[in-house]
Amino acid sequence: MSQAGTKKINLLDLSSDKMKEFLLQRGEKPFRATQLIKWLHQHLADDLDQMTNISKSMRADLAEIAEIKLPEIVLDKASADGTHKWVLRLEDGNCIETVYIPESERGTLCVSSQVGCALDCTFCSTARQGFSRNLTVSEIIGQLWIARKTLQPDPNANRAVTNVVMMGMGEPLLNFENVVDAMSLMLDDNAYGLSKRRVTLSTSGVIPALDRLRDRIDVSLAVSLHAPNDALRDQLVPVNKKYPIKELLAACHRFLDGKAAREHITMEYVMLEGVNDKDEHAHELVQTLKGLSVKVNLIPFNPFPDTRYKRSSNNRIHKFYEILSNAGMVVMTRKTRGDDIDAACGQLAGEVKDRSRRKIHFAKLEQEIT
Ligand code: SAH
Repeated sequence: MSQAGTKKINLLDLSSDKMKEFLLQRGEKPFRATQLIKWLHQHLADDLDQMTNISKSMRADLAEIAEIKLPEIVLDKASADGTHKWVLRLEDGNCIETVYIPESERGTLCVSSQVGCALDCTFCSTARQGFSRNLTVSEIIGQLWIARKTLQPDPNANRAVTNVVMMGMGEPLLNFENVVDAMSLMLDDNAYGLSKRRVTLSTSGVIPALDRLRDRIDVSLAVSLHAPNDALRDQLVPVNKKYPIKELLAACHRFLDGKAAREHITMEYVMLEGVNDKDEHAHELVQTLKGLSVKVNLIPFNPFPDTRYKRSSNNRIHKFYEILSNAGMVVMTRKTRGDDIDAACGQLAGEVKDRSRRKIHFAKLEQEIT
């Protein structure tokens, strides 16, 4: 608390634009914002006193009203395959999870956007815990800050985190403003400087927010499709009842038209034995996606306790892959990583402290954010 008794501003909550605004209000020059952003996100400073090119008096002044606060690391688990999972405790006691997946050419960080999730996808363990709240900008960007700091204590050393995917807990488009501000820091050359091709937002398909995203920030897009028709998608991804496939694909077309740099959208397709993995589903998928520039990413289902689903066999996944590939589609099969530490896609559980809001339906949630 500051002297006036009001809550201090967490400097990690501010995008570059907001940092400029904040400092201008205090009579500071715009270049100070660049200096602060660099200290926070390139040098990974967690104390104002580390900022040696900022005068002592300005630092003292800032300390009165601002602070640098990160989530607390309660667990840092490394898998045999090099995958890392962090469990982070937030100020209110809720916990979220972040996963780092190293590959030969890149290192991908899977970032959470909400505590829990309201969307109720039937094959996802995060859905089980319901929705608690949106993450703040500092809680989202803090995940990248912590990963960089842990994996790469020397910021000049090789770049351990080269890619970020908003594929952790939560639906990023239902936490729109904070996710956009956090992604703007990921892209910012004075902060993390990641290429827009290496920052990917994954969504179940909240169409109005998808259109807003196109107008606000240029990042890559992944869509959790998981089914070739509405009847099946209604069961797996219930938000489909509100935003059905045809409308979703029209929004995908608009997204690609919006920015010249965007070449394709990744379509995620979880492989569930006997549910969506038959030959007929693959043939139907080819028809459904006709005319849209996509890469299809087949994700072997990652099981969790009490789930009704099973992972498709490798043979089945291969056959499905071949049907799409023979039809001329670009297809990848995602390698399952980190499942020995429950760090695989859809296994992020976190811990929701306040369960009172968990039954909030996403439609209500949308009203809240718009
Ligand atoms: N809400 C966003 C992002 C979070 S989920 C979205 O729906 O896209 C990230 C990806 O993991 C999504 O494609 C999701 O459908 C997939 N996923 C969820 N549970 C899974 C599981 N148990 N096994 C494999 N993939 C899963």
